[in-house]
Amino acid sequence: MIARILAIGDELTLGRTVDTNSSHISRFLTDRGLHVERIQVVGDGQEGIEQALASAAEGADLVVVSGGLGPTDDDRTRYALSAVAGAALGLRPRAWQQVRRWFTRLRPGFEIPESNRRQALLPRGSHILDNDRGTAPGILMRIAGCPVACLPGVPHEMVAMLERLGARLPRLVPGLRPPTIAELWFAGIGESTAQELIGDLLTEHRPQVGITVSDLGHITLRIVGTATEVAARRTALRRCIAPYLLPKPGIATSLVDRLARRGWSISAAESCTCGQVAAQLGAVPGASRVLRQSLVAYHPEAKRRLLGVSAALVRRHGIVSEAVARQMAIGARRWSSADVAVATTGVAGPGGSTPGRPVGTVCLAVAVRHGVVTRTIQVSGSRERIQRRAAGYALLMAWEVASGRLAPGRA
Ligand code: AMP
Ligand code: MG
Repeated sequence: MIARILAIGDELTLGRTVDTNSSHISRFLTDRGLHVERIQVVGDGQEGIEQALASAAEGADLVVVSGGLGPTDDDRTRYALSAVAGAALGLRPRAWQQVRRWFTRLRPGFEIPESNRRQALLPRGSHILDNDRGTAPGILMRIAGCPVACLPGVPHEMVAMLERLGARLPRLVPGLRPPTIAELWFAGIGESTAQELIGDLLTEHRPQVGITVSDLGHITLRIVGTATEVAARRTALRRCIAPYLLPKPGIATSLVDRLARRGWSISAAESCTCGQVAAQLGAVPGASRVLRQSLVAYHPEAKRRLLGVSAALVRRHGIVSEAVARQMAIGARRWSSADVAVATTGVAGPGGSTPGRPVGTVCLAVAVRHGVVTRTIQVSGSRERIQRRAAGYALLMAWEVASGRLAPGRA
């Protein structure tokens, strides 16, 4: 069952907006058993949209379009749809009612501009896709027999409407059968090491096994196939990567889960990561069960006053050192009375490297009641990537300690 996706908007072709809609739509359709064969991005020109629509619909089982349904002149999706399907546009009273209701809700007391009327123009023979988050109703219609669903570009509106489109999928694409999907998550080794361990269990066909590296540091294996194939492959893969498996999709999520199970709390003392450790923990629903506090101690004076990092220690080892990270973690644990404390100190760049400590050098420490572990890592890339990945590594270390994989030495 072939699906094609079309993202419309000059902001996308000009590189001002990242096309997150298509990746969301693709994941959604793939999970439901469609094979997404093409994703195309087109600018706002009507002719280009017409060509893309006609070509996407040809031989496909479903086309999902996002963007170009707004009230301004550059929003041409409905006109292109009408031209390609050979169906005249007409004002649809129910759509007009929805547009007016939303407009009044968003801007009470304002007269609805005439331009919004366009959003209620639908090609003859099409269906309205209700939008309960914004003014633009979606449009569902067939081009050369292929169902084409046009959704608004605003991501949170599109996402809600796609969910509802999901309920119609069995009728729109008869015979569609959702595959069995299993995912495994792991961290602590890179992609190439994983490849060594997994070998030829990573396949493109039956069952399909894909590998994705998250920018937060964990790796996902996704197994797609029949229930029997998936179960067997999952067991085999688990065996290969057993020491690195995470119980949840992500390092922070796994850590929060493990800490909550142990009844442990966590704090952080962050220098180069500037709050990223806390942000990644705080992004996990239910983080309040374990997250106590986080302190950004950037200046050496802050590290001294708040965490007990003495000037002598800094002179002896340097501000980016495992000795300083260790003291920061011990200080943070004492100051917050959390069960676990993590600390980061490093060179986020692009300047600030010193001999032996190039940009991307980050020293990490995790302190628990009975000891501390420290580690130095190298992260490459931009300042932003170094901060994000360093925080991810710090959380990974805390996960290893909390799950008993890494034993802290005496403090
Ligand atoms: P539109 O429905 O074309 O008026 O789009 C409204 C807004 O949604 C645009 O200004 C973008 O900010 C956003 N948007 C449109 N298409 C996409 C897309 N494919 N991915 C992410 N955001 C989008
Ligand atoms: Mg647009």
